[in-house]
Amino acid sequence: MEGALVARDKVGIQDFVLLDETTETAFMENLKKRFDKDLIYTYIGALVVSVNPYKDLDIYNSNQMDLYMGVNFFELPPHIFALADTVYHAMMLELNNHFILISGESGAGKTEASKKILQYYAACSPETDLLTSVRDKMLMSNPVLEAFGNAKTLKNDNSSRFGKYMDIQFNSEGEALGGHILNYLLEKSRVVHQNHGERNFHIFYQLVEGGEEDLLHQLGLERDCLYYNYLTQGECAIMSSINDKNDWKTVKNALKVIEVSESDRTDLFGVVASVLHLGNVEFDPDSRGNASLDNNTELRWVSTLLGVNAQTLQEGLTYRKIRAQQDQVLSPFNIDHAIYVRDALAKAMYGRTFTWLVRQINESMENKDDTMKMVIGLLDIYGFEVFYVNSFEQFCINYCNEKLQQLFIQLTLKSEQEEYEAEGIEWEAVQFFNNKIICDLVEERHRGIISILDEECLRPGDATDLTFLERLEEKMGDHPHFVTHRLADITTRKTLDRGDFRLLHYAGEVTYCVVGKRDRHTQHTERVRPSQQHTGRERPSHSKYRERERPVQVATQFKSSLLKLTESLLAKDAWYVRCLKSNESKKPGVLDEALVRHQVKYLGLMEHLRVRRAGFAYRRRYEVFLQRYKALCPATWPHWLGLPMDGVQVLVQHLGYMPYEYKMGRTKIFIRHPKTLYATEDAFERC
Ligand code: ADP
Ligand code: MG
Repeated sequence: MEGALVARDKVGIQDFVLLDETTETAFMENLKKRFDKDLIYTYIGALVVSVNPYKDLDIYNSNQMDLYMGVNFFELPPHIFALADTVYHAMMLELNNHFILISGESGAGKTEASKKILQYYAACSPETDLLTSVRDKMLMSNPVLEAFGNAKTLKNDNSSRFGKYMDIQFNSEGEALGGHILNYLLEKSRVVHQNHGERNFHIFYQLVEGGEEDLLHQLGLERDCLYYNYLTQGECAIMSSINDKNDWKTVKNALKVIEVSESDRTDLFGVVASVLHLGNVEFDPDSRGNASLDNNTELRWVSTLLGVNAQTLQEGLTYRKIRAQQDQVLSPFNIDHAIYVRDALAKAMYGRTFTWLVRQINESMENKDDTMKMVIGLLDIYGFEVFYVNSFEQFCINYCNEKLQQLFIQLTLKSEQEEYEAEGIEWEAVQFFNNKIICDLVEERHRGIISILDEECLRPGDATDLTFLERLEEKMGDHPHFVTHRLADITTRKTLDRGDFRLLHYAGEVTYCVVGKRDRHTQHTERVRPSQQHTGRERPSHSKYRERERPVQVATQFKSSLLKLTESLLAKDAWYVRCLKSNESKKPGVLDEALVRHQVKYLGLMEHLRVRRAGFAYRRRYEVFLQRYKALCPATWPHWLGLPMDGVQVLVQHLGYMPYEYKMGRTKIFIRHPKTLYATEDAFERC
């Protein structure tokens, strides 16, 4: 990608590459200056930096889309649409695959950015019946997935609790013919537990608040979120900033657009309601203190809605069947264990329903035409997050962020290096903090945290959360990015609880609590199986467990799906949006400098900028450069008949460029300092 041409304007510089200095202070000043004027986008070359404004800006309407369509990247103020358009044109020009990596911490604006890009592509697409229907399905997949996969957290009122990669598929005419979504690790624990100030997935509240009387009646639900245990743990079921009633209507409509049939919708809401009923199932101690459950109304609802025999369900929640030689022995659960099994069932049901939904969406967006030639992938994965208590989910989320940062480092360094090499330009490498060391710590075979977790989960007998921690200490003890209780005081002077370990991530320190990590890593097989009622096509409530399935190691599975994703991304051309969170309290127009500076640092933006400017702030293909500035030299105006490279040589000599100010590559001119370019640009403006 070419560097931006636009030099300075009154509202800061539109491309950081053209800053006079590459200091953090200059960077921050420019960012703030622009943010104060509601200019939330700034480039670093072709990379888009975006700062969350926490207010609606009138810059995404259809006029704006029209404005950016087919216009050169540098000719208009920086915008996410400019990037979308540039990627599209690069794809059409080179007829190859691309992806846009959208990163930033939770609440920084990734999901919004990905929606804007999708809207832009939808708007580009011509109005034929087929294309319009594909377009609508792609757009409507968002409200459905957000209802089931997003929730209010402390960081973001609409936080994505799953990772999403979406391919938009184009034919050689550039028409969007279909789409495909890959989803990553849904945070299922939220179904049964929410921290203070957080909610369960939106769909539960939408159904209870917005569901029609008939529907609620049919599902046995009360119109009162506060009635349900699974909805109230965070003590913020009702939020003024979230309109569950309206969102319900949108989601219902969206489900129709993505062709979820009426009977599947009924089953789908049946599962959602069953989860709520399950959450209200409470156990009483029998005379021996074991969990008992008699004639429970909530349980009967679950049984009806899922088509599971009530007796089987009840037994499944209160006993384990053990085979002893020829006999079967019933081993009763105590109350804690019964609650654990109930919650595991709720999580598994919800998780499977989510997977089913993604499959439905994919079927409906499937490209039926085999003329598909190219894709643009959009990667919007949960951002780095640190909570007061961080558990298995945060561990996976933050590991995923490490991987994406690693990909960014690899690609930006690599492509830059390759470009200089290809152009025959000498350059000096810029030093990066390479987070590979942290990725290895987590994922290395036999030695990484995930491998050790695997071993501890499969080890029969006495493995506990604490033995897991001991194994970690044994193996990683002196790793510079790993700290436990024993070492905390020496290394960071911060105390750690006995059951915690801390990782020094690229984006900051996170203390993880090991309690329950082994449990969540192992996907438990529920023993309650749906009745035969829904045989045939798989329905949302179905769990197809085989009797003695080996537990799936969640983190291991996640690791291999990330590996596959990385491989598929490496085969495409990369583009980046780096989102910055402006403040922690979600306030419009407030830029917390320390917070933003921290993100600028760990996202590697300064290094990226320095690499972009490593010697040469600006580069442009000879033809393009000549075309723009040829009027500045009588020898090149109005036409230069020789090779463009020679024309550029004549032109820059005429402009008085000193030899150290520029280099001639094989196909491009490289300009060392933006000032040189400003002068040329000023001359151009005057002429
Ligand atoms: P992330 O996906 O990075 O966690 P989101 O994209 O969900 O964050 O953004 C969080 C919230 O910030 C949104 O719900 C919205 O209120 C606000 N927001 C983000 N980007 C924009 C934007 N470009 N314009 C206005 N508000 C935004
Ligand atoms: Mg998000």
